[in-house]
Amino acid sequence: MTTLITIQDVIKSAKAPLDSAGRKLVTEAFVFADKAHEGQKRRSGEPYVQHCLHTARILAQIGMDAGTIAAGLLHDVPEDTDVTLQEIEKKFGKEIAWIVDGVTKLGHIRLRGSREEMFIENLRKMFLATAQDIRVVIVKLADRLHNMRTLNAVPAEKQERIAKETMEVYAQIANRLGISEIKTEMEDLAFMYLYPDEYKKVYDMYAREKDDYEKYINRAIESIAEGLKKEGIKVIEIKGRAKSIYSLYVKLKRYDMNISRIYDIVAIRVIVPTVADCYETLGIVHKRYRPMVGRIKDYISLPKPNGYQSIHTTIFGPEGRIMEVQIRTPQMHSEAEFGIAAHWIYKEATTKGWRHYLFGKKKTPKNIEDQRQTRWIKQLREWQDDLGHDNEEFMRSLKIDFFKNHIFAFTPKGDIIDLPEESTPVDFAYAIHSEVGDRVIGAKANGKMVPLNYTIRNGEVIDILTSKEPKLPNAKWLEFVRTSNARSRIRRQLKRAGEHIAPLPDITKQKARERKNARKQKK
Ligand code: MN
Repeated sequence: MTTLITIQDVIKSAKAPLDSAGRKLVTEAFVFADKAHEGQKRRSGEPYVQHCLHTARILAQIGMDAGTIAAGLLHDVPEDTDVTLQEIEKKFGKEIAWIVDGVTKLGHIRLRGSREEMFIENLRKMFLATAQDIRVVIVKLADRLHNMRTLNAVPAEKQERIAKETMEVYAQIANRLGISEIKTEMEDLAFMYLYPDEYKKVYDMYAREKDDYEKYINRAIESIAEGLKKEGIKVIEIKGRAKSIYSLYVKLKRYDMNISRIYDIVAIRVIVPTVADCYETLGIVHKRYRPMVGRIKDYISLPKPNGYQSIHTTIFGPEGRIMEVQIRTPQMHSEAEFGIAAHWIYKEATTKGWRHYLFGKKKTPKNIEDQRQTRWIKQLREWQDDLGHDNEEFMRSLKIDFFKNHIFAFTPKGDIIDLPEESTPVDFAYAIHSEVGDRVIGAKANGKMVPLNYTIRNGEVIDILTSKEPKLPNAKWLEFVRTSNARSRIRRQLKRAGEHIAPLPDITKQKARERKNARKQKK
């Protein structure tokens, strides 16, 4: 059970302070959700709307705007109450309703069946493809984080599935979006449920070490703060930051579980106004404490692939204690903690954009949109590279549309097959295996028989019926298959068997002839 909070708590915790229109919007969303969920309780016994408030508060804390916070308050209304999405749209406008709808749809994706790496990766992709908008993903992450915080109220057998899914899908997505605050907490909670013994072991180790460590850290902090003051550098924040239990566990595994070899259990974090201040701070730190050779990492001039920026140095602190110091500007800090969500904090767009969506047809002014876009795109680009897709179209949009022309369908065992839009059961069968493709005799979509030229829809479970004996594909299939994989296999098989093959379309034929002639002429 988490503590009971009010809508005022949500508003107060907004990292990007809400203006009066924003406050009005989230308050109205709360009243609406409260009424819709009236009488409903969570498993833990608290009123259901508490879950909505906590979800909204997480969104506020990471700096999301009023519209997204409102969507967080309303996210379970269509699924769990009699109030419809249309009613939300009528009251709060298309955009908020659209986010709520996206979150509802994401709720239907489940981790099931096979546990292979490919499957997990596909599941992440499908999640993103279904979400279509980054705000939908972020609301879903906040929803899941609160569900993880209250996981002890859930039956044990469900706990494991939810914790696994959180670790492998949700935390990874938070990581890709750079929202380390959410990623870290999700991992720690999931770790606790999945490996309670290891969790306890690492936690105890950490607690012992931390107590011992803290007094040295505090002495170093005092000394560094004094040095900065002397040089006239404004300190925005300087404090010790403990490593998360799960990341400590991962590191311990690399160091034979020997905690004395880990130097950043608690790191000192210094936040100073400008990049120049960062480098000057580095000098001041090194003047007081000798740096360890080869441990100065300048992620300001050379950011990490996910965009992370900071200077790290490992020093011999008070009494020779080895400790890490991280130096960064407030903006770098925000981006490190909140990733893509940080982009809302620095933009004046906060509630202004929403007011347009809510009260007028005009879009956010062009220049704001542009600024926003460049940074989003930078991040999404890296992300997209990660996923191994290359689609220039993508660059023109804020939406997650690099999967736009894809659909994802399940095998009855839960494997995900990634297909181009308008694919058919025959494409699906060939995507599983060419032998399966050749032997298709029928197909079911979500348990119902469908024709072989049926258009598969996103998320459907496709069951392929096959002949026992090997057989040839049907030449007619060439009229409707979408994937080149299926097409070429069918042609090859039929050719081999000497069957009649449908002639190539004229254009292709003509091009082939032209190419042939061109080659001849070269010779
Ligand atoms: Mn929920």
